[in-house]
Amino acid sequence: MLQDQDRIFTNIYGMHDRTLAGARKRGHWDGTDKLIQMGRDDIVKIMKDSGLRGRGGAGFPTGLKWSFMPKESDGRPHYLVVNADESEPGTCKDREIMRHDPHTLIEGCLIASFAMGAHASYIYIRGEYIREREALQAAIDEAYEAGLLGKNAAGSGWDFDLYLTHGAGAYICGEETALIESLEGKKGMPRMKPPFPAGAGLYGCPTTVNNVESIAVVPTILRRGADWFAQFGRPNNAGTKLFAISGHVNQPCVVEEAMSISFEELIDKHCGGIRGGWDNLKAVIPGGSSVPCVRGENMRDAIMDFDYLRGELGSGLGTAAVIVMDQSTDIIKAIWRLSAFYKHESCGQCTPCREGTGWMMRVMDRLVRGEAEVEEIDMLFDVTKQVEGHTICALGDAAAWPIQGLIRNFRDEIEDRIKAQKTGRVTAALAAE
Ligand code: NAD
Ligand code: SF4
Repeated sequence: MLQDQDRIFTNIYGMHDRTLAGARKRGHWDGTDKLIQMGRDDIVKIMKDSGLRGRGGAGFPTGLKWSFMPKESDGRPHYLVVNADESEPGTCKDREIMRHDPHTLIEGCLIASFAMGAHASYIYIRGEYIREREALQAAIDEAYEAGLLGKNAAGSGWDFDLYLTHGAGAYICGEETALIESLEGKKGMPRMKPPFPAGAGLYGCPTTVNNVESIAVVPTILRRGADWFAQFGRPNNAGTKLFAISGHVNQPCVVEEAMSISFEELIDKHCGGIRGGWDNLKAVIPGGSSVPCVRGENMRDAIMDFDYLRGELGSGLGTAAVIVMDQSTDIIKAIWRLSAFYKHESCGQCTPCREGTGWMMRVMDRLVRGEAEVEEIDMLFDVTKQVEGHTICALGDAAAWPIQGLIRNFRDEIEDRIKAQKTGRVTAALAAE
């Protein structure tokens, strides 16, 4: 279990003063100018050596992403865009940073922007995060007043402006290129990649889009060193990580832990165990709604990191939003609800997603009621395979994978419901809802 002195986020529960004075007491903004004076190359190298993988869900190595930004300016400005459009169902970790520890993010924005040659950065926060927006804006204002932002930011010799802007409720605006479109004042629709944002991003300029947590950990990594961060977790899965645990545990929470902690330890130490005990565990979605669910009995010994969850369990760490479901859960209905969500949030730009999400949701709707033929289960699986990998952005995959997880892990339950419907046993139960 992570020791208190190894926690990066010291005010995640809002127990302390979140203002600049409080942040300074907890070590933030301490010698920021010296960190910047290490120079671009050294900062990027430390980030690479730390092993930090992006905390927004995809786990792309952060230092490597930074290194894609052009070293020399061709006259176009460079930008850092912080993706604070936290909308993945189950995910609420960045919210806690922005609410209670906003200066970790602001200091990270300055250092990361310097390392990528950016004099301006935009934080794009989800529209529903109104209190978080207020907290962040107040912290930005006090950072300007204290000379930590603006001309010669924090005495570093680097001029840097930070802007906060907000979305309006569209999940797709969390996809990095849709977010850029939205920032530019257009409808939030994903762009084809490549080009990746480092080549042509905001206003066609070199841009890096990073998640809130990825940027907020940067100052601490630079202060304590790459080796300090890399000591936590397994190789290729380094660092500390915020886990957001919801559902049928005794105490849902957001907690910073070492990567690669076991699922059992995470739940027992921080959430007071599974509601009704471990035997009552039915299923877990370990990484936010985009990753497939896993049967409970396969999760107890699971290692909570990118490689184990994907390689061993065919799921993923994603945003580390751990959704726990006990035996009382109608798992078919739970996944149907996700299908409805993705159908609703599809931007409609590409055919497999626009048509596929609606089609999958309608079949799921019938499976919930048991009003389908058993053969349709395989047909539904085939359709998810037609959607997966055939769309402009990851929303198509995100819509397909939960259904694949359901069919792989709970086929028996789907079949039982169809059989029960044929014998008239299922209608009363559903009618009661
Ligand atoms: P992705 O794998 O396409 O990209 C991840 C990042 O790496 C991007 O910034 C991308 O530009 C960069 N990248 C990838 N390959 C690259 C290359 N060859 N060259 C240069 N840069 C490259 O994934 P994505 O679509 O950005 O994100 C999908 C993930 O987002 C899902 O797995 C899901 O977990 C997560 N997600 C999170 C939220 C949230 O609220 N945090 C919401 C929706 C989805
Ligand atoms: Fe839009 Fe879906 Fe295509 Fe993404 S996959 S661009 S959300 S239609």
